Amino acid sequence: MFFRDVIGQEEIKQRLILEVNEGRIPHAQLICGPEGVGKMPLAIAYARYISCTNRGETDACGTCPSCVKFNKLVHPDVHFVFPIVKSAKGKREVCDDYIADWRPFVLNNPYFNLNHWLNEMDAENSQALIYAKESDEIMKKLSLKSSEGGFKITIVWLPEKMHPVCANKLLKLLEEPPEKTIFLLVSEAPEMILPTILSRTQRMNVRRIDENNIDRVLQTKYGIQPADSLSIAHLANGNFIKALETIHLNEENQLFFDLFVSLMRLSYQRKIREMKMWSEQVAVMGRERQKNFLGYCQRMIRENFIYNLHQRDLIYMTINEQNFASRFAPFVNERNVMGIMDELSEAQLHIEQNVNAKMVFFDFSLKMIVLLKQ
Ligand SMILES: [Zn+2]
Repeated sequence: MFFRDVIGQEEIKQRLILEVNEGRIPHAQLICGPEGVGKMPLAIAYARYISCTNRGETDACGTCPSCVKFNKLVHPDVHFVFPIVKSAKGKREVCDDYIADWRPFVLNNPYFNLNHWLNEMDAENSQALIYAKESDEIMKKLSLKSSEGGFKITIVWLPEKMHPVCANKLLKLLEEPPEKTIFLLVSEAPEMILPTILSRTQRMNVRRIDENNIDRVLQTKYGIQPADSLSIAHLANGNFIKALETIHLNEENQLFFDLFVSLMRLSYQRKIREMKMWSEQVAVMGRERQKNFLGYCQRMIRENFIYNLHQRDLIYMTINEQNFASRFAPFVNERNVMGIMDELSEAQLHIEQNVNAKMVFFDFSLKMIVLLKQ
């Protein structure tokens, strides 16, 4: 992560660069703002810039020993603190126990939120915390001499998730900071941080990303067509995570639509061999996506049925889906709609029970042959 990888936020970048070049880096900064605006990317780019031994006017060099370590987030003087879920199984109770997951996760896409991280830890629906024990880890690391002779930087992601014991120890460190240490607190809910901690940090508010910047990145880095990128950027409202989620949803939706259309065509034409190939294609998708796909099929059947009733204001379909519905809808009628929905629920149940997916989907396609003719 370099400053140049941070989307937009030019004003803040300038301010951070100036601080470093004028040698007045605050020992504790609170980088706060809403989700998806690039707080972590900024913190990492800033830490890299501070540590770089050959920094340029606008960014780190990328080749000095410090930068090389930053490429893998393995700089010995840069520590990450983040919420975790204690796991009894692997005896994971401090951030370092998760560091092998954390590094590739952050490197892969520094625009993430707590849900993404919970997913990465396989801990959906759990409460993630920065536990009391973490403060001992922080103390231990800061008591060591800096290995490179430069600053020791601790980046705390979501300090609002700190256990009070940990927060109080952090406060002590902020009150009497060891020499050449920097704390970067990256927060989405500063109002939940101890006021005594807040008062010892210099606050920096990161605003929503400019729409044009998101638009440009979507086109250049993600190959999105200008017409789409503009509307995605607009809907994202300055939140790049939201923009990424929209792209992902669009792709998934398109795939599901294609699969649905080809299944209906194949079943109608009784192309058994192709239907078998179709089932094999769906069978490799993974159970969660198969369930999502079956959910999508149910929605499409329902929408097409309503389409027949000419209740246009009740229809929620994309343009592509509506074009298909104009031809397909007559095949979904009061004689077969319940039957199709029942088959889809049964398929969903079987997928949940780990029945062989190839068989479940092939079986469903065979039943559609009969149902579509009713
Ligand atoms: Zn460098």
